[in-house]
Amino acid sequence: MREARKGMLLVISGPSGAGKGTLYGKVLAADPDMTFSVSYTTRAPRPGEVDGKDYRFVSDGEFRAMLEQDGFLEHAQVHGHFYGTPRQPVLDALEAGRSVMLDIDPQGALQVMEKMPGCVSVFILPPSFTELRRRLEGRGTETREQIERRLQNARGEVALKDKYQYLVVNDDLEVAYRTLQGIVDAEKQRSCRYFPVVEE
Ligand code: ADP
Ligand code: 5GP
Repeated sequence: MREARKGMLLVISGPSGAGKGTLYGKVLAADPDMTFSVSYTTRAPRPGEVDGKDYRFVSDGEFRAMLEQDGFLEHAQVHGHFYGTPRQPVLDALEAGRSVMLDIDPQGALQVMEKMPGCVSVFILPPSFTELRRRLEGRGTETREQIERRLQNARGEVALKDKYQYLVVNDDLEVAYRTLQGIVDAEKQRSCRYFPVVEE
């Protein structure tokens, strides 16, 4: 059967340590049509993070220059650093029929929901704040001070969960992954994105 598909813009948010990266890493691995939007950030790279793959790690000046050129689809200050989604790569991928995944905070997600009303939005919740702390401490990529700041900000982020179309609780990883993959699979089949041609 001949068929065509339009790309989907998938916005994923959730408190730091909820397991967003772990979950969408599995979606990206399973779906060659899904691309990850590499954000610009002024925070320092964590050990193992690769410039251009995980983030574009830039200085405050470089970030400001990009902002002045109107180069961001959205941007926000999160946990004391600037983060932004470069506009053109997202628009180019969607234009080419590919799906794009954004891992962005709720301030940025609200901007995208307004500018791109066809986007699909998912908020990932931890099962508890105690477990969120355990995961952040276990990941070991932030200082104690940074962990406390992220845990404080988590309350305000979770308060915005109802702005999103879908909620996924990441308690058991496999269950959460199957739920997220189910959302992506169903959204792909929407008649506004999927165009099968029934031939004679
Ligand atoms: P985020 O991208 O939301 O900041 P990560 O994907 O880095 O979060 O996950 C934070 C930590 O929690 C990592 O060490 C990860 O291995 C762990 N983790 C993720 N999901 C689960 C889960 N369902 N149960 C237990 N630990 C998890
Ligand atoms: P981290 O420093 O742990 O990689 O990310 C911290 C927070 O910044 C997370 O909530 C993540 O979703 C958010 N974030 C990452 N990239 C962007 C971006 O381009 N824009 C916005 N608004 N938030 C982002």
